Amino acid sequence: MQPPPIHSWHWLDASDLQAVIDALRGEGRRVIGPKVADGAVILGDLVSVAELPTGWLDEQDGGSYRLRQDPAAGSFDHVVGPHSLKNFLFPARETLVSFAREDGVWHEQAAAPPAAPLAVLGVRGCDLAALRIQDRVFLGNGFVDEAYRSRRERLFLVAVNCRRAVATCFCHSTGCGPAVEAGFDLALTEVDGRFACEVGSEEGARVLSEAGIVDAPLSTDEAETVRRVPHDLASRMHARQATDGVPRPRSLDTHGIRDLLMANPEHPRWDDVATRCLSCTNCTLVCPTCFCASVQEVTDLTGDHVDRERQWASCFSLDHSRMHGQPTRSTTSSRYRQWLTHKFAGWIDQFGTSGCTGCGRCITWCPVGIDVTEEIAAIRATDGVTVAREEASS
Ligand code: SF4
Ligand code: SF4
Repeated sequence: MQPPPIHSWHWLDASDLQAVIDALRGEGRRVIGPKVADGAVILGDLVSVAELPTGWLDEQDGGSYRLRQDPAAGSFDHVVGPHSLKNFLFPARETLVSFAREDGVWHEQAAAPPAAPLAVLGVRGCDLAALRIQDRVFLGNGFVDEAYRSRRERLFLVAVNCRRAVATCFCHSTGCGPAVEAGFDLALTEVDGRFACEVGSEEGARVLSEAGIVDAPLSTDEAETVRRVPHDLASRMHARQATDGVPRPRSLDTHGIRDLLMANPEHPRWDDVATRCLSCTNCTLVCPTCFCASVQEVTDLTGDHVDRERQWASCFSLDHSRMHGQPTRSTTSSRYRQWLTHKFAGWIDQFGTSGCTGCGRCITWCPVGIDVTEEIAAIRATDGVTVAREEASS
């Protein structure tokens, strides 16, 4: 069957989506997608469309996440949960290399065979933005992380255009959503129980063809209507309108944010937020772009086997800044400042982009509801340093 052209649109019903999942699994891929588990929509192994969180909506706010059932909700009307692509491309813990001692001589052990290539369903605009950022960290700047590269280059992405936002979303402020523009193999927009599917790559076209879907194109008018779905949501987010009874989404003024944060290392807000922050690391664990890790050698009890393990690290851990036996950031205030200033300012110098996509996870999953948009707004509102500098140069 001839694959459909890139950027063509096709209607899929639930059985067609199942055929896509079957085609991906049939070529040996591990298919990951959203499903309800432990009271949240998580990303997990997906075999059937029946496992999708159809009829579930999430309500999110600072320090709060709730699921509720709504018969009118589609399969992708939930927003992002605690997991992201990071959990699969840069796992929380992995063995980089192992060594064994035989007859007193250490040998490097053969690497484990590569894991099955991944296909991930339900990837949002903010997730694709986070992936572009992680690509710069792990593949750019003249350094290639082989563990990341081997998973990334075989990744198949089925993206979703959001038609609903929650109160913690601010992707419209960072320019990362809610529309998915590029970087996907297939992109779905849910409309009246069906999925309008845009082909985004040759791989996407091939898989659609394998699934037997080439002959249900959208008319030009239908494609135009479908394209408007995420853009209408973006307009409502910019207008900060509440949608479907959900509190209005947050927003962030990103104007001059690098200079604002770099100019305010002594701002009293850092001490204020430190009185609330638990240094629990949740925000960095759920953030789809945080990439810090520590590496340590772990031996078994015989002492004849060693694994070199990489584990996620966090700005909020005391050990993360340990140098010469002492942490250089011994206070919560200095650790929060490091996280926020690096993510929203230092990354721009380092990687040419902000480290924040506006996904809102750090706000939802902070146990005390600390909100990056509120903290930055508070610094901006009482910023004497940058204002004085701008006035002096004008
Ligand atoms: S800093 Fe917060 S809102 Fe920004 S990408 Fe990370 S988790 Fe999402
Ligand atoms: S900001 Fe919130 S999530 Fe992050 S370390 Fe502090 S208490 Fe934990």
